[in-house]
Amino acid sequence: MTSASADFLFPPRPTPSVAVVGETARFPVGRIFCVGRNYADHAKEMGAEVDREAPFYFLKDAGSITASGATVPYPQATSDFHHEMEFVVAIGAEAFDVPAERAMAVVFGYAAGLDMTRRDLQAKAKAKGRPWDLAKNFEMAAVIAPIVRAADFGPIGSQRIGLAVDGVLRQDSRLDEMVWSVPELISHLSRHYRRGAGDLIYTGTPAGVGAVVPGNRIVGTIDGLPSVELRIGPAATA
Ligand code: MN
Repeated sequence: MTSASADFLFPPRPTPSVAVVGETARFPVGRIFCVGRNYADHAKEMGAEVDREAPFYFLKDAGSITASGATVPYPQATSDFHHEMEFVVAIGAEAFDVPAERAMAVVFGYAAGLDMTRRDLQAKAKAKGRPWDLAKNFEMAAVIAPIVRAADFGPIGSQRIGLAVDGVLRQDSRLDEMVWSVPELISHLSRHYRRGAGDLIYTGTPAGVGAVVPGNRIVGTIDGLPSVELRIGPAATA
């Protein structure tokens, strides 16, 4: 069958995408990689230590992408819904076995993002040595603000990354506190996965993660990027 004549049993899901600052064309999202324990102070608050042997990842479905400014219902199956403020890297070209020295060439741009987490389910998974999918990969769990092109953002350095809930600062760090740098992460991922354009990398969260409840308003900021905002709504009902 040719794609032009494809006949679906029900409408396929729309392609998830992210706005790009100052442009009408959108960034189509392929895969979402998330880095675990990439700030020493956050690893410590979670009772873990940073491992300099290799970074580790979990993935979120592209369909979990949610635009900044949304209201998300308090999710099912949790009573400990947490915010994680993150610097997001948008990949714009294929990266296959790329050394860190050349990794930045595949970066399209950057955005402020939230890796929303069902922390109680993550704790249960960790205790049993099970995967984190139920804790991390669910509807509306990957929040993102519009992407800024890499050239407009400039070099990654000591930009501040922070998050407030109802105006109270909870997370406050700097991008140069990351354990694994952006080129190191891209290079490492490129030794495990080939496809690249459209991928997003959520680069991990600094200390200060915590619970939110219905009615809370989250505002996450990174110097040089549009802020990422999220309101927590009442629990969804069937
Ligand atoms: Mn995270």
